[in-house]
Amino acid sequence: MSTAKPRLGFVGLGNMGAPMTNNLVKGGYGVTGFDVDRPRLLQRAQEIGFHAADSAADCARRADIVITMLPNGHIVRDAVFGAAGIAEGLPKGSLIIDMSSAGATGTAALGKELATKGIALLDAPVSGGVTGAEAGTLAIMVGGNDEAAIERAWPLLETMGKKLFRAGPLGAGHAAKSINNYLGATNLIAIAEGLIAGTKFGLDPANLLAIINASTGASGTSQGLFPGQVLNRKFGAGFALALMAKDVGLAAELAKDVGMNAEVIAHTAQVWARARDTMPGNPDFTAIVQMLETDFGTELAPPKA
Ligand code: NAD
Repeated sequence: MSTAKPRLGFVGLGNMGAPMTNNLVKGGYGVTGFDVDRPRLLQRAQEIGFHAADSAADCARRADIVITMLPNGHIVRDAVFGAAGIAEGLPKGSLIIDMSSAGATGTAALGKELATKGIALLDAPVSGGVTGAEAGTLAIMVGGNDEAAIERAWPLLETMGKKLFRAGPLGAGHAAKSINNYLGATNLIAIAEGLIAGTKFGLDPANLLAIINASTGASGTSQGLFPGQVLNRKFGAGFALALMAKDVGLAAELAKDVGMNAEVIAHTAQVWARARDTMPGNPDFTAIVQMLETDFGTELAPPKA
């Protein structure tokens, strides 16, 4: 068996895709990239050192394995089966790894269609944000039915992540990812409501956060995001609010699909959908705190210098 590294295609060179590609290139993989945002593609190709393709099909023609890192599952389907899409350029025996956060049911359907063309699909969404993507320390949750495909993907996934999990059959990675993000999303708005309530009572929010962070209410969100992005008013973690709203919506859909009337998931999804639909521009997900501040007429004061 040849030990040569497979040729990779990478579709979606955004906040996450760019640093992930950078790690693949540093890991010795030859990469061809494609993004519909041509200026971004060309700039990143030059910075990172990969070949820029003219279309998703062109990218696929130059690759044995294509990775997608796109905003949602509908866009993934379009990038695969749309005009000049990935499926046009991939021969039988190739592999697509969808690392986007997408819906589990849509992924399972896409996998069935690709199987009729002899193309394998794995879902391998990630957690750890832009920082984890840059450091190559992402958590990666792999869903798939094809053992040989998983074995083929594993070494390159290890180039982008440090905590790799077999989640289950195709779509299971996407299910795990939406449930994880639902928890992060709930925690973020729960902490914000708590800090606003405390502030209204007369507590200093930075002091209240310090108390929480030394107590049982502490979490990654309270210890990392609140001091690092919220109280200092940066609101720039590098993950779009619309993408988080999508993820919580996917968790709510999943709960419905399995016959649950899950009130907390449904309520969290509603709050995030309202933020997506009412907040102007393309805010970072941490900026949802500003919507809650407006709702309750109280801004969280930054820590005293
Ligand atoms: P992003 O918006 O920064 O990047 C998406 C890229 O896809 C953009 O460059 C866009 O031009 C490109 N694109 C859109 N449609 C395309 C198409 N049809 N063909 C080719 N390129 C296309 O988003 P991101 O933050 O990099 O997130 C990507 C995925 O990773 C999303 O599913 C997101 O939910 C998930 N995710 C993001 C983070 C994060 O912290 N940013 C963390 C974990 C998972």
